[in-house]
Amino acid sequence: MLGNLGENLTNTMKKLVGMSVIDKKTIKEVVKDIQRALIQSDVNIALVLDLSKKIEERALEEEPPKGITPREHVITIIYEEMVNLLGSEAAGLDINERPYKILFLGLQGSGKTTTIGKLCRYLQKKGFNPAVVCTDTWRPAAYEQLRQLTEEMDVPLYGDPNNKDALDLAEKGLKEFKNRKVIIFDTAGRHKEESDLIAEMDQLDDIINPTEAILVIDGTIGQQAGEQARAFSQATDIGSIIITKLDGSAKGGGAMSAVAETGAPIKFIGTGERIDDFELFDPERFISRLLG
Ligand code: GDP
Repeated sequence: MLGNLGENLTNTMKKLVGMSVIDKKTIKEVVKDIQRALIQSDVNIALVLDLSKKIEERALEEEPPKGITPREHVITIIYEEMVNLLGSEAAGLDINERPYKILFLGLQGSGKTTTIGKLCRYLQKKGFNPAVVCTDTWRPAAYEQLRQLTEEMDVPLYGDPNNKDALDLAEKGLKEFKNRKVIIFDTAGRHKEESDLIAEMDQLDDIINPTEAILVIDGTIGQQAGEQARAFSQATDIGSIIITKLDGSAKGGGAMSAVAETGAPIKFIGTGERIDDFELFDPERFISRLLG
């Protein structure tokens, strides 16, 4: 399980190799290396300090279990502490209610609309037939973008580019698709003021009463991820997070702040602009990437 992580860590933790006893000084150096790697990956500094303190304490106090080398033991501790923040396994969605109403939230440009298309394709492959409701009355092209995306996949879409009332659209969409198993609601990502956007999400949350609210975060935005997550949490109980644009050089460490803010796990990642560039979140790979 730790193969990937172990390999990546050997770069930052060469000092550990071949040591049968790991002393305090070595552990402190390793923790410094981890701090440096995480900060370079855009992980929030307070989170980094908190994590590294826990890792250092455990590495100094705990005896390696029998058959485990001190080096492996330290790597396991690092992994466990990071998993504590991120969740231990790829979760996906558990569609266990009908209708399963998904409220998509995220700032304009985060990749929300593209991700809705990707999730529809993912759900179709699993045998579900999702329907989509467009409540974004702010961006003129939103409906058209969704129409093109959904048409290609034969996904039913409800929307009305002439209706400027997002709440009314949500209500009508709910009625239209009341017999569907999965309904996905796209929302605006921008208003004149951020507070107006959050207020609208709050009202939509009341009307839709979502089974799951998914926050879409651009993986390249770094430290702003935490603030965004905090803002959207005022409107609804965020159930999961999707990080987009992890196909580039960004390591996505800012997303850890979003997880810390909301307590919601990352469930999927976006790895490109195409419809199939979408993966279940794999904590181990993500951690390797942050530390590597
Ligand atoms: P929205 O405003 O949040 O609905 O964002 P869009 O879905 O329109 O996406 C904004 C831009 O980001 C578009 O150019 C998308 O092609 C691009 N995009 C979305 N997801 C990804 C991704 O995972 N990787 C890359 N490279 N680009 C993405």
